[in-house]
Amino acid sequence: MKIILSLLMLVGLASAQSQPAADLVISNAKVWTVDASHPEAEAVAILGDRIVAVGSNQDVSAWRGPKTQVIDAGGKLLLPGFNDAHVHFVDGGVSLDAVQLNDAATPQEFARRIAEQAKKLGKGEWILSGEWDETKWNPPNLPTKELVDPLTPDTPVLVTRYDGHESLANSMVLKLAGITAKTPDPPGGVIVRDAQGNPTGIVKDAAQDLVFKVVPPLTHDQRVKVIKRAMAHAASLGVTSVQHMNPDYADIAVYSELHQRGELITRIYAAPLIPQVDDQVKIGIRHAFGDSYLRLGALKSYADGSLGSGTAYFYQPYLNTPNNRGLLSDTMQPLSLMRDRMMRADAAGLQLCTHAIGDEGISIILDLYSEIVKAHGEADRRFRIEHAQHMATKDFDRFAQLHVIASMQPYHAIDDGRWAETRIGHDRASRTYAFRTFLDHGVRLAFGTDWNVAPLNPMLGLYAAVTRATLDGKNPNGWFPEQKITLKEAIEAYTMGSAYAEFQDKEKGSITPGKLADMVILSDDLFSIDPVKIRDVTVVKTILGGKLIYEAGAGK
Ligand SMILES: [Zn+2]
Repeated sequence: MKIILSLLMLVGLASAQSQPAADLVISNAKVWTVDASHPEAEAVAILGDRIVAVGSNQDVSAWRGPKTQVIDAGGKLLLPGFNDAHVHFVDGGVSLDAVQLNDAATPQEFARRIAEQAKKLGKGEWILSGEWDETKWNPPNLPTKELVDPLTPDTPVLVTRYDGHESLANSMVLKLAGITAKTPDPPGGVIVRDAQGNPTGIVKDAAQDLVFKVVPPLTHDQRVKVIKRAMAHAASLGVTSVQHMNPDYADIAVYSELHQRGELITRIYAAPLIPQVDDQVKIGIRHAFGDSYLRLGALKSYADGSLGSGTAYFYQPYLNTPNNRGLLSDTMQPLSLMRDRMMRADAAGLQLCTHAIGDEGISIILDLYSEIVKAHGEADRRFRIEHAQHMATKDFDRFAQLHVIASMQPYHAIDDGRWAETRIGHDRASRTYAFRTFLDHGVRLAFGTDWNVAPLNPMLGLYAAVTRATLDGKNPNGWFPEQKITLKEAIEAYTMGSAYAEFQDKEKGSITPGKLADMVILSDDLFSIDPVKIRDVTVVKTILGGKLIYEAGAGK
């Protein structure tokens, strides 16, 4: 009986050319496939969660059967779904509903918004996240606890700079954390103090751990809610895959639970922090272990801090703080600690993704990667450096020789580009977010955003990579315009490049028969509009594994 039924179904669905009918056909599209062997097409056929045909409307019409769903793209641009190679997905989800401080134009406005949020919350509920940016203030001085203390007597306030490398704690939080004038700076961190030696409320890099550890963790229900919120946001922006840096294990547990219930609408590659290396070594999983929705097998490390916080680690001092050339992270002190962990990870087949921003920070990581190759022999490791922001001239070749992937966030370039030169000068700035030089050296790029450090919207990243027009409008023709790349290169970095960086280039990253049907239809043709308008382009439809997961205007 079963056999007869399925035969009948096949007969019913089969097209004239005796192939199974597609579940979905997208026709009348301008398809940019990111597949060099077949870059352009008009239509795509999908069977189950995979692409089965890409070609002209006529070629693909052979896949239509009576039950095939057809989307007429109306001539709009169809691209592979975006793969954000570096996000903090749960922090991002939290930030969507948190106090918004990033565009507060003055310290007074910053304080006003915190006071307003405090009124909305119950007594003792925390104000977190915020993404403040003091470079937008005049003068650009760091905020202090005095600014918010009078407004928040019963509210713990711990708001973080947009780059995640400094936070402001109010007196209530400093007290909870036990931070006083007598507390020493931890390795890799700074407790900022006033002239009398009292903490101002600002804690940098590793010193943030002193306050973060007193924040109550998200409950399971909150975490589920936040992750669903983050996934819906990603779908609305055409982001179908993310690589989650520094997840808590509780985040991975929620992904796993949602996956089992069929509720994941974003594909996840999770890279927990390297101090936890032995957990993954013990289980015996290797890089990119898992299925198309949820994978593990990578480790995230920190070499140094950030440029904005003055903690990115350079060979030469910062211009604005002549005694400071940055900080190596606490996990790099001593260096043998990081070396041992990386060696153990590599021996176990795990992938290394290392945050390195300053030129010497990057250089030290390249040294460590090179030691690993010497110790364990050549292999397809796909070493990554996250951010790869300020390069020493000598290191572009080494990057290529070691096959290190530059996992970069173009939006940072148009953001930091507003003030980077005042901190590191013209020469170092010329090798900052050096997209063009990397590609010219044969280095692979993987693009992303670092959300919640920057907005998750891929259009802003493409806009940044092709225009390098800083957010302050002062460099309309591009900040170090020689480092611009083409739109095709930027899209490739954001799709195939990111897929390669997570060992998934055979599974996704281009619109190619056999690959997962993850795609996005955009409101405008990126290739024919003025590049300045790229940032205004929106998503019409997002398709994940052949299923429509977002449609503009639906459900509003
Ligand atoms: Zn990050």
